[in-house]
Amino acid sequence: MNRRALILDELGLLPLWVRRERAHPPPAKAERTAPGETAPVLTAADDRASRIARMSWPELRESVRTCRACGLHAGRKQAVLGVGDEQADWLFVGEGPGAEEDARGEPFVGQAGRLLDNMLAAIGLKRGSDVYIANTVKCRPPGNRAPEPSEAAQCEPYLLRQIALIQPRLIVALGKTAASILLQTDASLGSLRGRVYQFQGIPLLVMYHPAYLLRTLADKAKSWEDLCQARELMARLKAGERVLN
Ligand code: SF4
Repeated sequence: MNRRALILDELGLLPLWVRRERAHPPPAKAERTAPGETAPVLTAADDRASRIARMSWPELRESVRTCRACGLHAGRKQAVLGVGDEQADWLFVGEGPGAEEDARGEPFVGQAGRLLDNMLAAIGLKRGSDVYIANTVKCRPPGNRAPEPSEAAQCEPYLLRQIALIQPRLIVALGKTAASILLQTDASLGSLRGRVYQFQGIPLLVMYHPAYLLRTLADKAKSWEDLCQARELMARLKAGERVLN
């Protein structure tokens, strides 16, 4: 078995199947759009948000390290800003650190992290090389719960600053929480995947979270479809195409 086949086997995707054509129509051309919604305007910047919006990487790291802007700071061992190439074309955004991430200070470690690494490898990517991985909140929500809207709102300026500093060609929202926060929608993940959205002018795709895929083997095949779509989209973006949908 060659390396690609080994990776696909690891993902539970063999035998290989043929990708179906996209079933959904494209979304409206707008920033931060979700189905059935008009494009929301970003929250007006308060003092804190506008300060964060001017930060350099070292300032951002220090600010996140010492942040107490929401209650999540109380239960963390450390804040987890993100990891990877700070000029990456690919930005993957998950939900928040879990216990292992909190202990190690890096997003997507442990079993879900290994699956994400395998998913990246399946499309020729590697953590840290042209890839940056972040979360919507930087501190661990207790008991692996999803972040509260108020916590996500307090942490959003950090993610926005990361996006502005990295300037990725493509953002991939991993899981319902990241998709909901980035697209400002309550739509199900199943209804969101397979389409190209825009986040402040940057194409955005939605995929299943690796932790969900570990629990739901049946959807691994769909994640391969999403990975193929992402790879094709990136090729178009690198060729200079302006992809709006
Ligand atoms: Fe600050 Fe974000 Fe941590 Fe809340 S989750 S304390 S806003 S860094």
